[in-house]
Amino acid sequence: MQRPLAIGIHGGCGTLNPAGMSEEEWAAARADLARALKAGWRLLVDGGSSLDAVTAAVVVLEDSPHFNAGHGAALNEDGTHELDASIMDGATGAAGGICAARAIRNPVLAARALLDEGETVLLAGAGADAFARARGLVTVSNDYFTTGRRLAALASLKARSARGTLAAASEAEKHGTVGAVALDGHGNLAAATSTGGFNNKPAGRIGDSPIPGAGTWAANGVCAVSGTGQGEFFLRHAVAHDVAARIAYGGQTLESACEAIVFQTLASRQIGAGLIACDASGRIVAPFNTVGMYRGWIRHAEGPAAVIVATHDRLHDMGSPGL
Ligand code: ASP
Repeated sequence: MQRPLAIGIHGGCGTLNPAGMSEEEWAAARADLARALKAGWRLLVDGGSSLDAVTAAVVVLEDSPHFNAGHGAALNEDGTHELDASIMDGATGAAGGICAARAIRNPVLAARALLDEGETVLLAGAGADAFARARGLVTVSNDYFTTGRRLAALASLKARSARGTLAAASEAEKHGTVGAVALDGHGNLAAATSTGGFNNKPAGRIGDSPIPGAGTWAANGVCAVSGTGQGEFFLRHAVAHDVAARIAYGGQTLESACEAIVFQTLASRQIGAGLIACDASGRIVAPFNTVGMYRGWIRHAEGPAAVIVATHDRLHDMGSPGL
Protein backbone atom coordinates (compact mmCIF):
# COMPACT_ATOMS: atom_id res chain seq x y z
CA MET A 1 0.00 0.00 0.00
CA GLN A 2 1.19 3.50 -0.82
CA ARG A 3 2.44 5.40 2.25
CA PRO A 4 0.63 8.73 2.65
CA LEU A 5 2.48 11.84 1.49
CA ALA A 6 1.43 15.35 2.43
CA ILE A 7 2.62 18.93 2.27
CA GLY A 8 0.87 22.00 3.68
CA ILE A 9 1.93 25.63 3.62
CA HIS A 10 0.79 28.96 4.97
CA GLY A 11 1.65 32.46 3.83
CA GLY A 12 0.57 34.16 7.04
CA CYS A 13 -2.70 35.23 8.61
CA GLY A 14 -1.92 38.90 8.03
CA THR A 15 -4.04 38.67 4.89
CA LEU A 16 -5.45 41.81 3.33
CA ASN A 17 -9.14 42.43 3.28
CA PRO A 18 -10.60 40.98 0.08
CA ALA A 19 -10.94 44.41 -1.54
CA GLY A 20 -7.39 45.41 -0.59
CA MET A 21 -5.72 43.81 -3.62
CA SER A 22 -6.65 43.53 -7.29
CA GLU A 23 -7.89 40.23 -8.75
CA GLU A 24 -4.53 39.96 -10.56
CA GLU A 25 -2.61 40.33 -7.29
CA TRP A 26 -4.71 37.65 -5.56
CA ALA A 27 -4.21 35.35 -8.54
CA ALA A 28 -0.44 35.95 -8.49
CA ALA A 29 -0.28 35.17 -4.76
CA ARG A 30 -2.29 31.96 -5.31
CA ALA A 31 0.03 30.97 -8.17
CA ASP A 32 3.05 31.37 -5.90
CA LEU A 33 1.39 29.25 -3.20
CA ALA A 34 0.81 26.54 -5.83
CA ARG A 35 4.45 26.80 -7.01
CA ALA A 36 5.70 26.40 -3.45
CA LEU A 37 3.50 23.33 -2.90
CA LYS A 38 4.62 21.72 -6.14
CA ALA A 39 8.31 22.37 -5.37
CA GLY A 40 7.94 20.42 -2.12
CA TRP A 41 5.62 17.79 -3.55
CA ARG A 42 7.99 16.91 -6.39
CA LEU A 43 10.64 15.98 -3.83
CA LEU A 44 8.21 13.89 -1.78
CA VAL A 45 6.99 11.97 -4.82
CA ASP A 46 10.58 11.28 -5.86
CA GLY A 47 11.22 9.67 -2.48
CA GLY A 48 12.83 12.76 -0.95
CA SER A 49 12.63 13.81 2.69
CA SER A 50 10.02 15.98 4.36
CA LEU A 51 12.93 18.17 5.49
CA ASP A 52 13.90 18.86 1.87
CA ALA A 53 10.25 19.39 0.93
CA VAL A 54 9.56 22.05 3.56
CA THR A 55 12.87 23.76 2.75
CA ALA A 56 12.02 23.91 -0.98
CA ALA A 57 8.49 25.21 -0.36
CA VAL A 58 9.65 27.94 2.01
CA VAL A 59 12.38 29.08 -0.42
CA VAL A 60 9.70 29.71 -3.07
CA LEU A 61 7.61 31.71 -0.60
CA GLU A 62 10.67 33.69 0.60
CA ASP A 63 11.47 34.60 -3.02
CA SER A 64 7.89 35.73 -3.72
CA PRO A 65 7.06 39.42 -3.05
CA HIS A 66 3.55 38.50 -1.88
CA PHE A 67 4.45 37.20 1.56
CA ASN A 68 6.17 38.60 4.63
CA ALA A 69 9.42 36.60 4.43
CA GLY A 70 12.59 37.05 2.38
CA HIS A 71 11.82 39.41 -0.54
CA GLY A 72 8.70 41.24 0.67
CA ALA A 73 9.54 41.05 4.39
CA ALA A 74 8.33 43.59 6.95
CA LEU A 75 10.47 46.56 8.03
CA ASN A 76 11.35 47.34 11.62
CA GLU A 77 11.00 50.77 13.26
CA ASP A 78 14.33 51.86 11.71
CA GLY A 79 13.22 50.88 8.21
CA THR A 80 15.51 47.82 8.26
CA HIS A 81 14.64 44.19 7.57
CA GLU A 82 15.54 41.69 10.30
CA LEU A 83 14.57 38.18 9.32
CA ASP A 84 13.71 35.15 11.45
CA ALA A 85 13.45 31.52 10.32
CA SER A 86 13.60 27.98 11.66
CA ILE A 87 13.32 24.37 10.61
CA MET A 88 12.84 21.13 12.55
CA ASP A 89 13.26 17.45 11.72
CA GLY A 90 10.61 15.25 13.33
CA ALA A 91 12.74 12.14 12.87
CA THR A 92 15.65 13.31 15.03
CA GLY A 93 14.41 16.39 16.86
CA ALA A 94 17.24 18.35 15.24
CA ALA A 95 16.48 22.04 14.67
CA GLY A 96 18.05 25.25 13.40
CA GLY A 97 16.94 28.86 13.86
CA ILE A 98 18.11 32.19 12.43
CA CYS A 99 17.16 35.37 14.30
CA ALA A 100 17.24 39.00 13.14
CA ALA A 101 19.43 38.33 10.10
CA ARG A 102 19.88 41.26 7.73
CA ALA A 103 21.62 39.84 4.68
CA ILE A 104 20.64 36.20 4.11
CA ARG A 105 18.58 35.97 0.95
CA ASN A 106 16.86 32.75 2.09
CA PRO A 107 16.98 32.54 5.89
CA VAL A 108 15.43 29.05 5.84
CA LEU A 109 18.53 27.77 4.03
CA ALA A 110 20.75 29.09 6.82
CA ALA A 111 18.45 27.52 9.43
CA ARG A 112 18.69 24.26 7.48
CA ALA A 113 22.50 24.48 7.41
CA LEU A 114 22.49 24.86 11.21
CA LEU A 115 20.21 21.83 11.53
CA ASP A 116 22.44 19.77 9.25
CA GLU A 117 25.56 20.68 11.25
CA GLY A 118 23.75 19.55 14.39
CA GLU A 119 25.54 21.67 16.99
CA THR A 120 24.39 25.27 17.42
CA VAL A 121 20.60 25.59 17.24
CA LEU A 122 20.13 29.39 17.14
CA LEU A 123 22.23 32.14 15.59
CA ALA A 124 21.33 35.85 15.63
CA GLY A 125 22.18 39.07 13.82
CA ALA A 126 25.68 39.58 12.42
CA GLY A 127 26.69 36.08 13.53
CA ALA A 128 23.86 34.56 11.51
CA ASP A 129 24.79 36.60 8.41
CA ALA A 130 28.46 35.60 8.77
CA PHE A 131 27.50 31.93 9.16
CA ALA A 132 25.48 32.08 5.92
CA ARG A 133 28.39 33.72 4.05
CA ALA A 134 30.83 31.14 5.39
CA ARG A 135 28.56 28.34 4.17
CA GLY A 136 28.36 29.86 0.68
CA LEU A 137 24.71 30.89 0.92
CA VAL A 138 23.60 33.90 -1.11
CA THR A 139 23.70 37.17 0.80
CA VAL A 140 22.17 40.43 -0.40
CA SER A 141 22.00 44.08 0.56
CA ASN A 142 19.17 44.75 2.99
CA ASP A 143 17.07 46.66 0.43
CA TYR A 144 16.73 43.49 -1.67
CA PHE A 145 13.93 42.54 0.75
CA THR A 146 12.00 45.83 0.35
CA THR A 147 8.72 46.11 -1.56
CA GLY A 148 6.39 49.08 -2.03
CA ARG A 149 3.69 47.35 0.02
CA ARG A 150 5.92 47.05 3.08
CA LEU A 151 7.13 50.65 2.79
CA ALA A 152 3.49 51.77 2.67
CA ALA A 153 2.64 49.57 5.67
CA LEU A 154 5.50 51.03 7.70
CA ALA A 155 4.47 54.60 6.85
CA SER A 156 0.86 53.83 7.73
CA LEU A 157 1.76 52.22 11.06
CA LYS A 158 4.00 55.15 12.02
CA ALA A 159 1.18 57.57 11.14
CA ARG A 160 -1.33 55.53 13.14
CA SER A 161 1.06 55.37 16.05
CA ALA A 162 1.43 59.18 15.99
CA ARG A 163 -2.38 59.60 15.83
CA GLY A 164 -3.02 56.96 18.51
CA THR A 165 -5.07 54.75 16.12
CA LEU A 166 -2.78 51.73 16.09
CA ALA A 167 -5.55 49.44 17.31
CA ALA A 168 -7.41 50.03 14.03
CA ALA A 169 -4.50 48.80 11.87
CA SER A 170 -5.34 45.85 9.62
CA GLU A 171 -3.71 42.47 10.07
CA ALA A 172 -2.08 42.95 6.66
CA GLU A 173 -0.46 46.22 7.70
CA LYS A 174 0.90 44.60 10.81
CA HIS A 175 2.35 41.19 10.04
CA GLY A 176 2.65 37.91 8.12
CA THR A 177 4.87 34.83 7.87
CA VAL A 178 5.37 31.77 5.69
CA GLY A 179 5.63 28.16 6.78
CA ALA A 180 5.47 24.57 5.61
CA VAL A 181 4.83 21.12 7.09
CA ALA A 182 5.31 17.79 5.36
CA LEU A 183 5.11 14.00 5.76
CA ASP A 184 7.36 11.89 3.54
CA GLY A 185 7.20 8.28 2.38
CA HIS A 186 9.35 7.13 5.31
CA GLY A 187 6.85 8.51 7.80
CA ASN A 188 9.11 11.43 8.71
CA LEU A 189 7.53 14.79 9.59
CA ALA A 190 9.22 18.21 9.24
CA ALA A 191 8.26 21.86 9.66
CA ALA A 192 9.80 25.20 8.65
CA THR A 193 8.84 28.86 9.19
CA SER A 194 10.25 32.18 7.90
CA THR A 195 9.22 35.78 8.53
CA GLY A 196 10.07 39.46 8.50
CA GLY A 197 8.04 39.69 11.72
CA PHE A 198 5.90 42.71 12.54
CA ASN A 199 6.03 45.94 10.57
CA ASN A 200 7.47 48.72 12.74
CA LYS A 201 8.77 46.18 15.28
CA PRO A 202 11.52 47.35 17.64
CA ALA A 203 15.04 46.91 16.23
CA GLY A 204 16.42 43.59 17.46
CA ARG A 205 12.99 42.12 18.25
CA ILE A 206 12.82 38.37 17.75
CA GLY A 207 9.48 36.62 17.36
CA ASP A 208 8.33 33.03 17.59
CA SER A 209 9.18 31.97 14.05
CA PRO A 210 12.88 31.11 14.65
CA ILE A 211 12.22 29.38 17.97
CA PRO A 212 11.59 25.61 18.01
CA GLY A 213 8.57 24.97 20.19
CA ALA A 214 7.04 28.41 19.64
CA GLY A 215 6.64 28.99 15.88
CA THR A 216 7.84 25.62 14.59
CA TRP A 217 7.74 22.03 15.85
CA ALA A 218 7.96 18.54 14.39
CA ALA A 219 7.92 15.14 16.09
CA ASN A 220 7.54 11.87 14.21
CA GLY A 221 4.39 9.97 15.05
CA VAL A 222 2.77 13.13 16.38
CA CYS A 223 2.69 16.23 14.15
CA ALA A 224 4.52 19.03 12.34
CA VAL A 225 3.39 22.61 13.00
CA SER A 226 4.16 26.13 11.71
CA GLY A 227 2.44 29.19 13.17
CA THR A 228 1.52 32.72 12.20
CA GLY A 229 0.35 35.53 14.46
CA GLN A 230 1.77 37.78 17.13
CA GLY A 231 4.92 35.94 18.07
CA GLU A 232 5.06 37.19 21.64
CA PHE A 233 2.02 35.05 22.51
CA PHE A 234 3.27 32.06 20.53
CA LEU A 235 6.42 32.28 22.63
CA ARG A 236 4.53 32.68 25.89
CA HIS A 237 2.25 29.73 25.16
CA ALA A 238 4.92 27.53 23.49
CA VAL A 239 2.28 27.14 20.81
CA ALA A 240 3.84 24.75 18.31
CA HIS A 241 5.01 22.41 21.06
CA ASP A 242 1.66 22.67 22.81
CA VAL A 243 -0.08 21.32 19.69
CA ALA A 244 2.19 18.26 19.86
CA ALA A 245 1.76 17.89 23.63
CA ARG A 246 -2.03 18.00 23.37
CA ILE A 247 -1.85 15.15 20.84
CA ALA A 248 0.93 13.08 22.45
CA TYR A 249 -0.02 13.42 26.11
CA GLY A 250 -3.63 14.54 25.92
CA GLY A 251 -4.84 12.21 23.19
CA GLN A 252 -6.40 15.04 21.19
CA THR A 253 -6.75 14.87 17.42
CA LEU A 254 -4.71 17.24 15.26
CA GLU A 255 -7.85 19.20 14.55
CA SER A 256 -9.00 19.64 18.13
CA ALA A 257 -5.48 20.47 19.35
CA CYS A 258 -5.01 23.19 16.72
CA GLU A 259 -8.50 24.59 17.12
CA ALA A 260 -8.18 24.80 20.90
CA ILE A 261 -5.01 26.84 20.53
CA VAL A 262 -6.22 29.18 17.79
CA PHE A 263 -9.82 29.69 18.96
CA GLN A 264 -9.32 29.51 22.72
CA THR A 265 -5.74 30.06 23.91
CA LEU A 266 -4.72 32.68 21.33
CA ALA A 267 -8.17 34.16 20.70
CA SER A 268 -8.37 34.91 24.42
CA ARG A 269 -5.28 37.11 23.90
CA GLN A 270 -7.16 38.99 21.22
CA ILE A 271 -4.56 38.39 18.56
CA GLY A 272 -4.85 37.22 14.98
CA ALA A 273 -3.41 33.72 14.74
CA GLY A 274 -3.23 30.72 12.45
CA LEU A 275 -1.49 27.37 12.11
CA ILE A 276 -0.69 24.85 9.42
CA ALA A 277 -0.22 21.38 10.85
CA CYS A 278 0.13 17.83 9.61
CA ASP A 279 -0.15 14.60 11.58
CA ALA A 280 1.48 11.19 11.17
CA SER A 281 -1.31 10.01 8.86
CA GLY A 282 -0.87 12.97 6.50
CA ARG A 283 -3.95 14.82 7.72
CA ILE A 284 -3.56 18.60 7.32
CA VAL A 285 -5.43 21.33 9.17
CA ALA A 286 -5.12 25.10 8.78
CA PRO A 287 -7.27 26.96 11.35
CA PHE A 288 -7.08 30.78 11.64
CA ASN A 289 -9.09 33.45 13.42
CA THR A 290 -8.47 36.39 11.06
CA VAL A 291 -10.21 37.55 7.87
CA GLY A 292 -8.02 35.24 5.83
CA MET A 293 -4.85 33.19 5.79
CA TYR A 294 -2.81 32.27 2.74
CA ARG A 295 -2.66 28.49 2.79
CA GLY A 296 -2.59 25.37 0.67
CA TRP A 297 -1.89 21.65 0.63
CA ILE A 298 -1.36 18.56 -1.48
CA ARG A 299 -2.15 15.16 0.00
CA HIS A 300 -1.72 11.66 -1.33
CA ALA A 301 -3.75 9.48 0.97
CA GLU A 302 -6.93 8.55 -0.79
CA GLY A 303 -7.75 9.53 -4.38
CA PRO A 304 -5.62 11.54 -6.79
CA ALA A 305 -3.57 14.40 -5.37
CA ALA A 306 -4.75 17.95 -6.12
CA VAL A 307 -3.14 21.32 -5.45
CA ILE A 308 -5.50 23.25 -3.15
CA VAL A 309 -4.84 26.89 -2.22
CA ALA A 310 -6.91 29.49 -0.39
CA THR A 311 -6.74 33.01 0.93
CA HIS A 312 -10.18 33.44 2.48
CA ASP A 313 -13.09 30.96 2.73
CA ARG A 314 -13.06 29.68 -0.82
CA LEU A 315 -10.73 26.79 -1.68
CA HIS A 316 -9.19 26.96 -5.17
CA ASP A 317 -8.43 23.63 -6.84
CA MET A 318 -5.34 24.40 -8.93
CA GLY A 319 -5.46 20.98 -10.61
CA SER A 320 -3.18 18.01 -10.36
CA PRO A 321 0.42 18.56 -9.25
CA GLY A 322 1.26 17.14 -12.71
CA LEU A 323 4.08 14.87 -11.57
N1 ASP B 1 4.78 35.26 14.03
C1 ASP B 1 5.38 36.39 13.36
C2 ASP B 1 6.16 37.18 14.35
O1 ASP B 1 5.66 37.46 15.42
C3 ASP B 1 4.40 37.27 12.66
C4 ASP B 1 3.28 36.59 11.91
O2 ASP B 1 3.23 35.40 11.80
O3 ASP B 1 2.40 37.26 11.41
O4 ASP B 1 7.25 37.58 14.05
